[in-house]
Amino acid sequence: MRRPMVVANWKMYTRASDAYILATTIRNMLADVDGVETVICPPAVWLSEISEIVKRDGKVNVGAQNMFYENEGPYTGEISPQMICDIAKYVIVGHSERREHFGEHDLEVNEKVLAALKHGLSPIICVGERKKSDSPDHAIKQLKEALTHVPKNRYKDVVICYEPSWAISKGKANSEAAPVDRALRAIAKIREIVLRESPILYGGSVDVDSVLDFAKRPEIDGVLIGSASLRASIFVEICKRWADAKNFKNDIVLEEENK
Ligand code: PEP
Repeated sequence: MRRPMVVANWKMYTRASDAYILATTIRNMLADVDGVETVICPPAVWLSEISEIVKRDGKVNVGAQNMFYENEGPYTGEISPQMICDIAKYVIVGHSERREHFGEHDLEVNEKVLAALKHGLSPIICVGERKKSDSPDHAIKQLKEALTHVPKNRYKDVVICYEPSWAISKGKANSEAAPVDRALRAIAKIREIVLRESPILYGGSVDVDSVLDFAKRPEIDGVLIGSASLRASIFVEICKRWADAKNFKNDIVLEEENK
């Protein structure tokens, strides 16, 4: 179901104590923020603890950054859907860093999407072109593959993130998000596939300054935040701006567009 969302991807950052403090601070600061679903995706080793921390007031959800598609077996180092389905609500699949560094390919992404849905997890499917010069149509091909054998009536349980890997900050301070019109063109094509059902997010170098450019577009339901999610005050400010824009400003944008 479409709804405003902000998802934090902590990637392979945080030690245990940093992670607990960050999650606790985010939870406390979001206590009186409504109108946006917030999801924290910590490193897998902190999933249980973070889930305990945030579930105390039920406003923040937890997602895994990845999982394997088999339930159990001789797969050293992997985590399975049945290990996380009681802890997490979401799981990121097909992130460009998994594709680039761990050779994750479309077929595997599809297996993960199917396994997630089977276990009641909502997959956050990341798609996007690798280089700036590549066509965003690459994302559409990835999405079609990822959704193979997914019945249309399950699209409401899936979240799509258009995240071109060239726009991801990779920890650099001066990185730039994709131009909004380029993101909108890709998102319009994604919407043709998932119809009205799935939330569609944008990801890549979104920070406090750029978030409103995306938030004021009714076509974009949410954002996936990497680097900027590692500072509680910045992440919470992004969530607040998203909530405000989605709850009060969409009407104004729509009215202006209809003039
Ligand atoms: C990401 O890797 O999912 C991401 C959005 O990263 P960043 O915000 O740092 O570009």
